Amino acid sequence: MKIFKKRIELIKEISKCKKLAFVPTMGALHKGHISLIKKAKKKSSEILVSIYINPKQFNSKKDFKKYPRRLKKDISILKKINISYLYIPRHNDIYSFIPKNKIFLDKFSKILCGKFRPLHFKGVINVVNRLLEITKPKFLYLGMKDFQQLILIKSHINRNKIKSNIIPCPTIRDESGVAISSRNTQLSKNQLQKAAKIYKFIKKNKRKIFHKIINKKKSEVVKNLTQLGAAKVDYVECINLAKKKLCKKPGENYNIFFAYYIGGVRLIDNL
Ligand code: AMP
Repeated sequence: MKIFKKRIELIKEISKCKKLAFVPTMGALHKGHISLIKKAKKKSSEILVSIYINPKQFNSKKDFKKYPRRLKKDISILKKINISYLYIPRHNDIYSFIPKNKIFLDKFSKILCGKFRPLHFKGVINVVNRLLEITKPKFLYLGMKDFQQLILIKSHINRNKIKSNIIPCPTIRDESGVAISSRNTQLSKNQLQKAAKIYKFIKKNKRKIFHKIINKKKSEVVKNLTQLGAAKVDYVECINLAKKKLCKKPGENYNIFFAYYIGGVRLIDNL
């Protein structure tokens, strides 16, 4: 595995790649990230992983500072899985050039996380746009856990005619059903049990929750989640997966999307 800190050197190395598969991450690698890399390895022998915690997508300095950092461990994990390239840029390497493409934010950015984290998606698209301009991958591997992010990256890619194909990857869960996230490392055992209860409740009552939400009884669902241990619920919504819009009536193909806090840790999921 070759490690790069400077984009110029990375570009020199990967410009010869024909089927570069790119997995962007913020590190503190877990089974979710590994599943993306393993899927990429099935299609391509040229795998690039990046680890960069992008300050522009955090709402507060405090949240950015407390984001888990495990670089040594991450490097040893990646060496074991045997990927080709690892890019670990510093802030300046990413932000010291003017990108060709303008940031495109689809209106799907206005709901769900976009409503509660105002500059988050602008920050995400900004960094992904820069990473794509540097790496020019043939395939870009993204997790469905961050469905809204995936769709917004897709619409940015389409709008700017960027020649990278998104490969969506299913959400990996722990044995209790909770979606694995780097942020889970900030939870105690007891807090993880609360997250598991919330996951089980939503999974078991998916249809009921859908009907409550479209019948304007969302506050009852929020109350249920609070009783199960959520300190605060940012949102619980039904999204029509094809239209990428809030559901209005029965019979639509939907997932329940939810974001909530356990202690000071914000978790998101959809199922
Ligand atoms: P992050 O490091 O959290 O920015 O995530 C990097 C990539 O891994 C994103 O495309 C995420 O959607 C994806 N990812 C994170 N957690 C999971 C998970 N539990 N299952 C599948 N993909 C995931």
